[in-house]
This record gives sequence, C-alpha cells and structure tokens, in this order.
Amino acid sequence: MSTATLAFEDVIARYEPVIGLETHVELGTVSKMFCGCPTTFGAEPNTQTCPVCLGLPGSLPVANAKAIESTIRIGLALNCSIASWCRFARKNYFYPDMPKNFQTSQYDEPLCVEGYLDVAVGESTVRVGIERVHLEEDTGKNTHVGTSGRIHGADYSLVDYNRAGIPLVEIVTKPVPGTGALAPEVARAYVAELREILRTLGVSDVRMEQGSLRCDVNTSLSPAGSRRWGTRTETKNVNSLRSVERAVRSEMVRQAAVLDGGDRVIQETRHFSETTGDTRPGRSKEEATDYRYFPEPDLVPLAPDPSWVEQLRRELPELPAARRARLQESLGVSAEDMVQMSNAGVVDLVGETVDAGAPVGEARNWWLGYLAQRANEREAEPGDLAIAPAQVARLVALVAEGSLTTALARQAVDAVLETGQDVDAVIAERGLRVVSDTGALERAADDAIAANPGVADKVRGGKTAAVGPLVGAVMKATRGQADAAAVRAILLRRLGVEG
Ligand code: ADP
Ligand code: MG
Ligand code: ZN
Repeated sequence: MSTATLAFEDVIARYEPVIGLETHVELGTVSKMFCGCPTTFGAEPNTQTCPVCLGLPGSLPVANAKAIESTIRIGLALNCSIASWCRFARKNYFYPDMPKNFQTSQYDEPLCVEGYLDVAVGESTVRVGIERVHLEEDTGKNTHVGTSGRIHGADYSLVDYNRAGIPLVEIVTKPVPGTGALAPEVARAYVAELREILRTLGVSDVRMEQGSLRCDVNTSLSPAGSRRWGTRTETKNVNSLRSVERAVRSEMVRQAAVLDGGDRVIQETRHFSETTGDTRPGRSKEEATDYRYFPEPDLVPLAPDPSWVEQLRRELPELPAARRARLQESLGVSAEDMVQMSNAGVVDLVGETVDAGAPVGEARNWWLGYLAQRANEREAEPGDLAIAPAQVARLVALVAEGSLTTALARQAVDAVLETGQDVDAVIAERGLRVVSDTGALERAADDAIAANPGVADKVRGGKTAAVGPLVGAVMKATRGQADAAAVRAILLRRLGVEG
C-alpha cells in the first residue's frame, strides 16, 4: 500500500462516500435522569451522587419528566413520529465509570423515530434522515493519572460519578449516501444545524468542547457505481464542527488508500486527533459486543398522552430554518449569504451586530472574515469569542467615521480578545487611531519614494497600479495607523501623477 496521501479530488473521482452521525446531547435539566441529584458542571468530584446514580442495591429509579419532555420536543423539531408507548432498556456492560454495570437506555423502542433534517450546503439542500432519538443516561468520568493520560501506563485511575445519570439524548441519522465531494461539509452542516435547533429549544447548552454535545462520525466508501455500501468506521473524539468536517475528509482519504491497496476497511471505532487532523484505530468492532439488552423492569413504560405531544408541537419555538428565512428577509441578504452565515454559526451574531447599528454588509464581513479566522485559529466557534456583537458594531462605526482604519480595527479586535476589555478602553490604552497628520504622512511618503526609486519611476511613468509597495512601506512606517487610501493619494500627488 502506498503511504503517500491521496488528494481528496482523486478519492471522490473513484469512490462514493456514505456518512452517518450519532450525536449525544446532555440535557440541561436541573436534576439527573433517574434521581434528584443536581447536574451542575464542574462541581467537586463525587459531590453530586446518591444511592440511585451510584447503583447501590435496592435503590429504585424514577424517570425525569422534564427530560422526557425535552426528548419529545427534540423529536418533534426533527420531524419524528413520537412513540405512543415505549420502554427503557438495560444495556449491560462493565466499566468502572458506570457503577450500575448497566446503562439505562432505549433499545428497540425509542421515544422518537423516522424524522429528517434538511441541511443546506452551498446551493444544495440535503435531507438527512433521522433514524431515532432516544433517551439514556450519561456515565461517570475516569481520569487516568500518569504521563500518558490513558489507561495504559497510568499509575492509577480516579472516577468521578457526578456525571453518572445525567440525561443524555442520542440522535442517530440514517446513512446518508450521494453527497460525493460535499460529504465532509454535509456532516458539519448537519451538526451545526442540529446544534442550532437544540440551542433554540433550550434543552442543552450544546458545548462541544465541554462534551455536552458529542458526535460520532461514521464514514464508508464504495467504488463509484457500486450498488453496495462499504464497511463503515466510527470516529469518536470529534470535539468541534471543524473537526467533524476534517474527520470525514481524512477518513475518506484513508479508506481510499486502503481500498486502492486491495485491502478491506475494518469496521472499527477510531479516534480523531485534533493535532494531526487524522484518525487512529481504537476498539475493533468486528465481534459485536453482546449488551444483553432487556426491558428495564424497575421503570414503568412511557406512554406520552397524544394531546400533550400535540401541545408540545404547538408550543415549539421558531426553529432556525424559519428564523433564517425571516432574517434573510429583514436583513435583505441573499439565500446563499444566509447559508454561508448559518454554516459558519454567525447568523444571530450578524443579526445582533446589525441591531446594534452596523450596516449588514459590514457585520457580515467581520463575522465571516476576520472574526471567523480568529475563531478558527483558536479552534473555537465565532460565538465563543470574547467579543460581543455590540463591540463589533462600535468598531464598524469607528471605521465609518474615519477614526480607525480596518487594520487598526483588527488590532482593536485582537486587544479585546486578549484582554476582555471594551473597545474604547483598548483603543485609548494602545493609542489606536488613524494618523491624519498630513505632514507626517508626507515625510513617510518621501522616505518610501527615496527607498524604492525603481517603483517610483514606474509610477511617474504612468503606471499608477504599481504604487502598492510604496503604500505598503508608508503603512509599515506608520504601524498601520494611516488610512491606505489617503496614503495612496499623497504618494501619487508627490510623484506628480493624478490618482
Ligand atoms: P452503533 O451503535 O453500532 O454505532 P448505530 O445504529 O447507533 O450503531 O449507529 C450507526 C450509524 O452508522 C448510523 O448513524 C448509521 O446511519 C451509520 N451507518 C450505517 N451504515 C453505514 C455505512 N455503510 N456508511 C456510513 N455510515 C453508516
Ligand atoms: Mg454508535
Ligand atoms: Zn443520584
């Protein structure tokens, strides 16, 4: 097998991907799924436990009504049918972070089934089928102490049961074929849209980096034109939207190399590495674990009253797709702009920046441009940046009135992100303002001309487009604090040509 990495274009020319996503969402309920313990994140280890979530003999669970309601609302928002009768099931396995030695989950009787979510990517809309939405409980958290951080080679391991029993909703898609080169983006856009829906429903704080939204990405490849789907791998540890896209892409490239070499893809769990951007093998799933599922005898079946379900349906908030359509209208942007803003997770940020007084074009450019870039570098989402839409609007206003150049406004953004201070404070502190002292600019222009005689001659000869390097030199001399258009005009004037 060749070790050279295949180009993505080569992969999609010869193979068809199928993707499938399993998403776990920790619900933001006040108490746990089957007991009254609190769910606060970051509490002292093992302070939020009781006999039920510790699985002590004789303790009995009671289902959290709010969690059931949230799950039904998620199902309704994803166009699912809601079961009129279903049960919890025991999924039996032993792992130290699960003190009961089984996880209370749902198996062949999920609460919500057969839905879909429409996902916009570029010009096209892909309908992602939803197989099931079910309710289960989270496990505790192991910490392996030692240099490796993994169980192998650890000196000892600690278990925190605060998370054990927090309500967890699993949303499983049907396999999605036919997306070709768009597969990585479809996967990302699906998770982005799902996250927006969950946020809008207010059922979870959907923080991928804190693990309240976790995604397993299934990918398979089959030769173009083949009728059978290939063997899938399931990639875990995908902690950001960007990683969802990268995980699908890198797995497609890896599987293509395997198939090119005449080997077969092994069905296994793989782990995504944020640092290398590729996947490493984890647990092999060739022998399927036997979880010995059976209906949970300690809990009554769920039989949601149809009139209650209808009431929940009526009371759903405006969902992101509808909100986007409405915002598109009121902001007056194109459908394509809207999709782009939505996939970047900046629709509301742009909306709020406009509400704070910025023109929509400027608001959009900042959030899709410099701010998106900053977020990307931090492997965060634009909404996680420590800058508020109102602060962006303030910067836009300062640029518009000529107090700041765009370059200076960017420096101000960096300073706000760094210090958490307000825009006006960082501007005052760092002396960020446009150099409008014409004398100083003229001296800098003359220096630039003297230092670049060749360029200056070209411009004198009528090639005004060649003035760029001189503008650059003046901007550099003024540490980016001059207005580039003004500098250009001064340079052309000093070189005796009209701008
Ligand atoms: P498991 O828990 O064993 O991973 P699930 O049914 O919970 O099984 O999830 C399987 C996921 O894999 C689903 O999202 C499904 O759409 C997806 N999937 C199934 N077959 C394929 C395939 N050939 N290629 C890509 N994804 C697939
Ligand atoms: Mg799975
Ligand atoms: Zn408890």
